[in-house]
Parts: sequence; structure tokens; C-alpha cells
Amino acid sequence: MPHQQPNLDTSPPVSDEIRKTTCYMCACRCGINVHLKDGKVSYIEGNRDHPINKGVLCAKGSAGIMQINAPSRLRTPLKRTGPRGSGEFEEISWDEALEIATGWLEPIRKEAPEKLAFFTGRDQSQSFTSYWAQAYGTPNYAAHGGFCSVNMAAAGIYTMGGAFWEFGQPDWDNTKLFMIFGVAEDHDSNPIKMGLGKLKERGAKVIGVNPIHRL
Ligand code: SF4
Repeated sequence: MPHQQPNLDTSPPVSDEIRKTTCYMCACRCGINVHLKDGKVSYIEGNRDHPINKGVLCAKGSAGIMQINAPSRLRTPLKRTGPRGSGEFEEISWDEALEIATGWLEPIRKEAPEKLAFFTGRDQSQSFTSYWAQAYGTPNYAAHGGFCSVNMAAAGIYTMGGAFWEFGQPDWDNTKLFMIFGVAEDHDSNPIKMGLGKLKERGAKVIGVNPIHRL
């Protein structure tokens, strides 16, 4: 008697709505399909039709779901109540938070706004940060890009002739030896991983100088 395959649905729908957008967990901007169930993000997958990643989604990209769903996500301003480093905070209203911030910032702005220096991480509001700093009157601000992607862009211009892979990238079709510094090849961004795949198909040599500490 032929073996009967159980009638399993191996790919049940996980959502009732799909929105197409781009991942912002790093600078590659891979295309993603964001699945929503009852209006909440339930799953993120790579978009097969997107030219940058062709459906590939890295672990960091899929972890983007936690930007929305993480229980630890801040939902209201927190005020420190214990000594610095004690981890003691209480939730306060936005009105109270803004009042505290204005109390700190107003006197400095009146006296000498350039005394305010600040740094922001990589988020989607970097242009607003600079807007705000200029309106406040300080030139002393910086963001994550000054330590990360801008350096990469400068190195790209001097070596490959392009700032990012959108504008210039290694010659994946002709390179015979590819050296990669500071990252494991399988930890790389999707466009680079796909390029590495091309090199390996052609038998090109890949050397990774990866500063990982092995125990
Ligand atoms: S390489 Fe990963 S983190 Fe970066 S944009 Fe693509 S999916 Fe997102």
C-alpha cells in the first residue's frame, strides 16, 4: 500500500495584511514584506522582487519586529529616581519630561548655546536632530553615521570609486581576490553576502580578517 502523506498545511497564513517597505535595521535598505495580524506586526520576510536583497533577510532584519513588539520598548518618558547606574526609574508624563528638559536647556541657550554638545544614535531622525541643533544654536552635535557609515563611504570613494553599494561596489564579476576586514563574511550585509556568493561560484579567493574572540 503506498505511503499516505498526511495532509498538512506547511505554510499557514500568518497575517491578514502585508505592507511592502524597506528594512532600516542597517544602511542596506533591503526590501521587506511586513505581515500584520489584527493591525500588529506579526512577521517580517524578505521581498523577492526587491533588487537589493532579492528576498534575502538577515537575522538583524528579522529582529526588526522587536523594534515594535519588544516588551522592553520604552512607552513613556522615565525619570531616574536612584543614584546614577542604580537602574531606578519612574514613569513620568511627556509634559513633565518636557518641563525638565526645558529647565535644563533654556538657561544654556540664553547664555551660550554652543555649550550644548550632544550625540545621537542611528535612528531615522538624524536630519531632525541637526534641524533641532541649528534652531537651538549649537554646531556641536554628531550622530552614529560619523563613526560608522560615513567612514565606510569615504573608504569606498577612495578604493572602489563609490560611497555605497548603491553607487559603486566591488567588481563582483571579475574580482579574483576579495579581502574583508572587521566582519565575518556570513555576518555581512545582504548585498555583500550576495556578491560573495557570486565570487565563490567563480572560484575567487576570499580572505576575511575577523577580530572575533574564540574561546
Ligand atoms: S542587511 Fe539585514 S539589517 Fe540590513 S537592511 Fe538588509 S535585512 Fe535589514
